[in-house]
Order: sequence, then structure tokens, then C-alpha cells
Amino acid sequence: MESSQDIAKQINERVKVSDVVRNPKAFSNLQGSYTFEDLKTEGPLACEWSIQPETTGLNIRGHLKGTMELECVRCLEPFPVPVNVELDEHYVFDRYVDTSEKEKELQSEDFYEIVNEEGHLDLKDLAHQFLILEAENQPACGRSECRFA
Ligand SMILES: [Zn+2]
Repeated sequence: MESSQDIAKQINERVKVSDVVRNPKAFSNLQGSYTFEDLKTEGPLACEWSIQPETTGLNIRGHLKGTMELECVRCLEPFPVPVNVELDEHYVFDRYVDTSEKEKELQSEDFYEIVNEEGHLDLKDLAHQFLILEAENQPACGRSECRFA
């Protein structure tokens, strides 16, 4: 048996695309808090999500807030990196990507991901991808001897 807490956690980590399409209101303000096996954070990372269906897909906006604990590549000491990231991702249903006509339309768009209408959105993984990018931008701690020239 799953507790209601487990179910709430699942909803905040993996979202069924068909649920969003059917009931967008339920996904206009989702709260998640995540911890990661391969990324240290000071307490769980807090995320606010807003998922909205669009004609050919979904739009996901997120706000990630927390503090990562990274290891400096120079002195190998841990140092904190505050995270305050807004993300805005477009997902396009894969059936719209098949025809050449739609592809032409989509090429004018910015970056987008492809998702199956029967599939899932992995919000935790999305947050993780952004944290990894942030971490790559911050290889060293702020001490003067560790700064890259
Ligand atoms: Zn350092």
C-alpha cells in the first residue's frame, strides 16, 4: 500500500502528460522538493512548477531554489552555490513532429523537447539537468587562489 505522502511525492516527480491535458488546473501550481543521489544540496531543493497544455504540446515553467554543495576543482573543499533558477521549457507532442509541414513550423521555434502524449514528464530529472548545468558553470570556490585567471 502506498501512503498519501508517497503518492503526492510521485505526482511532484513524475507527471502523466494525459493528466495535464485533462486537468490543467491541477498542474498550474505544483510544489516539489527533491534530493539527488549525485548532487549534494543543503536540504532539499525547492521547486515550483506550472505546467500548461498548448495546442501542440506543453509548456513547463519552473522555479528552483536551494543551495548546492559543490567540491572546488582546485582546493577540493566543499563550497555552497546558491540556486535560484527560472526555467521555461517547451515540450512538443511527438505526433506533431512527424509531418514535414509541422517540422517547418517548429524549426522557427527555440529549443524544444519531444514528449509522447501517453508518456510522463520527469520533473525531478528536469530540475537535475538544470542543476548539473549550474554546477558546470561553478567549477571553483570563490577564494582568490582558486579563481581561474
Ligand atoms: Zn577552492
